[in-house]
Amino acid sequence: MSASQRSVSPDAPRRGLMLVMSSPSGAGKTTLSREILARDPALAMSVSVTTRAPRPGETDGKDYHFRTPDEFLALRDSGGLLEWAEVHGNYYGTPAADVADRLSAGQDVLFDIDWQGAQQLAHKAVADTVRVFILPPSARVLEQRLIGRNQDGPDVIERRLAGAAAEIAHWAEYDYVIVNAQLDASLETLQAILAAERARPRRQLGVRALATGMLSDLAARPGR
Ligand code: ADP
Ligand code: 5GP
Repeated sequence: MSASQRSVSPDAPRRGLMLVMSSPSGAGKTTLSREILARDPALAMSVSVTTRAPRPGETDGKDYHFRTPDEFLALRDSGGLLEWAEVHGNYYGTPAADVADRLSAGQDVLFDIDWQGAQQLAHKAVADTVRVFILPPSARVLEQRLIGRNQDGPDVIERRLAGAAAEIAHWAEYDYVIVNAQLDASLETLQAILAAERARPRRQLGVRALATGMLSDLAARPGR
């Protein structure tokens, strides 16, 4: 193939990335995740394991894998979790199964996990992680969103607000921060982050092959 013929398709092979999103509970992570997943077919959710009770409308296997503490600890102790943490008095963890295969297949995986989990994933695979912190516009709005979500009782809301400071304290450790005031603007920023991160040379395996081929084409030009 000549240098002028060689080109790269927009679907060229690419290594997937781990999009890690953290926020204090109520800032809008679940809403943003749902919207970005609906818009972006290259992105799939990592479904966590948790010991907390399902909220109204949550489905086992879709929102979380709901497990007893004994089941959770058995999974953790057998090496079945990529990371885990205790949050608001419950255990949460990321199943290790098939994350590596999905990344190799060019699939991006979205993780809705807390700062402890984000640190553990970055420690294990920093080159694959893209960490985004979602902040509410104010403490007052955070409280209003928790109340407006209408899914937790006052004591649970109080516990989540009390835990918000511990989560927010870690915002600057992330690669990106989004202040989630207007949902549409937050989504646009998230899409821009994904587009830019996908363009990183270390993920562009197809372009790597193209560039190598171009170098040999240029070296083989007649008269050289
Ligand atoms: P989290 O997953 O971070 O706990 P949710 O996505 O459940 O938060 O959002 C909490 C509440 O705030 C929900 O009722 C959701 O509809 C609302 N919400 C999320 N993002 C926004 C936004 N940008 N503007 C107004 N309300 C929002
Ligand atoms: P919720 O109970 O509101 O669904 O989640 C509470 C907190 O647990 C959120 O901050 C969420 O990001 C975090 N979380 C959910 N799944 C995981 C997980 O697998 N690992 C870790 N470390 N945190 C998680």
